[in-house]
Amino acid sequence: MSFQDLNLNTPLYNALDDLGFTTPTPIQAEAFGVVASGRDVVGIAQTGTGKTFAYMLPILRNLKFSKQDNPRVLVLVPTRELVVQVVEEIEKLSKYINNRVLGVYGGTNINTQKQAVAEGLDIIVATPGRLYDLAVSRVLQLKSIQKLVIDEVDVMLDLGFRHQLINIFDILPDRRQNIMFSATMTQDVDELITDFFRNPERISIAVSGTPLDNISQYRYNVPNFYTKVNLLVHLLQDRDSFNKVLIFVAFKRMADRLFEKLDDYFKEELCVIHSNKTQNYRLRSIEQFRNGENRILIATDVMARGLDIDNVSHVINFDTPDYPENYMHRIGRTGRAEREGKALVFSTEKEQEAIENIETLMQMKIPVLELPDTVEISTELIEEERPQIRERNNPTKRSDDDAPGPAFHEKKEKNQKENLGGSYKFKIAQKYKKPKTRGDKNYNKRNKRK
Ligand code: AMP
Repeated sequence: MSFQDLNLNTPLYNALDDLGFTTPTPIQAEAFGVVASGRDVVGIAQTGTGKTFAYMLPILRNLKFSKQDNPRVLVLVPTRELVVQVVEEIEKLSKYINNRVLGVYGGTNINTQKQAVAEGLDIIVATPGRLYDLAVSRVLQLKSIQKLVIDEVDVMLDLGFRHQLINIFDILPDRRQNIMFSATMTQDVDELITDFFRNPERISIAVSGTPLDNISQYRYNVPNFYTKVNLLVHLLQDRDSFNKVLIFVAFKRMADRLFEKLDDYFKEELCVIHSNKTQNYRLRSIEQFRNGENRILIATDVMARGLDIDNVSHVINFDTPDYPENYMHRIGRTGRAEREGKALVFSTEKEQEAIENIETLMQMKIPVLELPDTVEISTELIEEERPQIRERNNPTKRSDDDAPGPAFHEKKEKNQKENLGGSYKFKIAQKYKKPKTRGDKNYNKRNKRK
């Protein structure tokens, strides 16, 4: 099949020619007719499968030139990096189309974005929070939106954007086409579809959990953090083979810790992204990694989701992800656009169960490689790896002396009155024939009247 088999137009054919793309990827071939038909669509496809063009080709094909200033297409994505990337992809396709595209995201000056919106646009690509703020400020009018694309929905829901999405649905026109792409079909995604989509057509090219064929996967059994560092240093010294390496870790703290360790060996070749880094720092790191200035990028799962970086030679899972889906997303950063990719995973004894879960999801075993002889096995442990020491029958420890006293805000004992309710008061009053509490000034008056 070639792009000629799709009913595109000359400006799009020319743009594809310039990009050197001749054959639609499977998701592009499958999505084109469905998206073009105007029906609601749910697509399951991993990043790297060409899904951005899968929804943009039919949308651009049918988007008529218009002078109106309010956008007609809204694309929502979970991270700021993805806004930048999707805008770039749309611009590539729009080379010969007179088309106004704007990307907006949080953490930057909203006034500059308001001005840009006021100048008029056709397509807006946004993170949910900033889109909502712009819409509430009334600078951005959403009444002309005909097509809503939500990309990487599963990440969006993982990041807790559900309410923001629903708020946005509320202010969009009812008559619109909903197009959604997700790498995995989770229960959350399914609920969102049931609640907000009208009888959507489902398309999918890979069952969630099917790794791309062109990614070869291996794993190493490694006893602890420092040995993992030694193995990594060993591997990364092979600069020819490991020429563009994306290393995943689960947490920010681990990303910083690993960065510190690798910095001694690969200073100029190394960069890192996680959510505590500033927006500029993150964009710069990604750019330097993308253009090859930095050979090695350390990233957390959330930051690297959906990032499209060409020619990643290796994805290294420095830890084994607890959720098998995260493993799928991580390794999907290599072997993109049908190129060969390699994925390695380092796992400790504790991480064996996570490996089994991944293997069950993929229905395949990841071959194990022997640790190279030159890699030193460290016995040093990081804090998290040390066994928790529980003391038993320590004769020198005085019992309870160290127990904390009551918190400063706890009531003194004499103030801890119990509310015994009305019936108790009534009983006391009957018994004593006079108020138990002082201050019932009417008591005597009442009794005189009797
Ligand atoms: P995506 O899955 O949208 O992140 O796209 C992954 C990469 O594949 C991007 O760099 C696209 O520019 C590229 N790509 C998209 N469609 C094609 C195609 N038909 N042929 C070759 N590369 C493509």
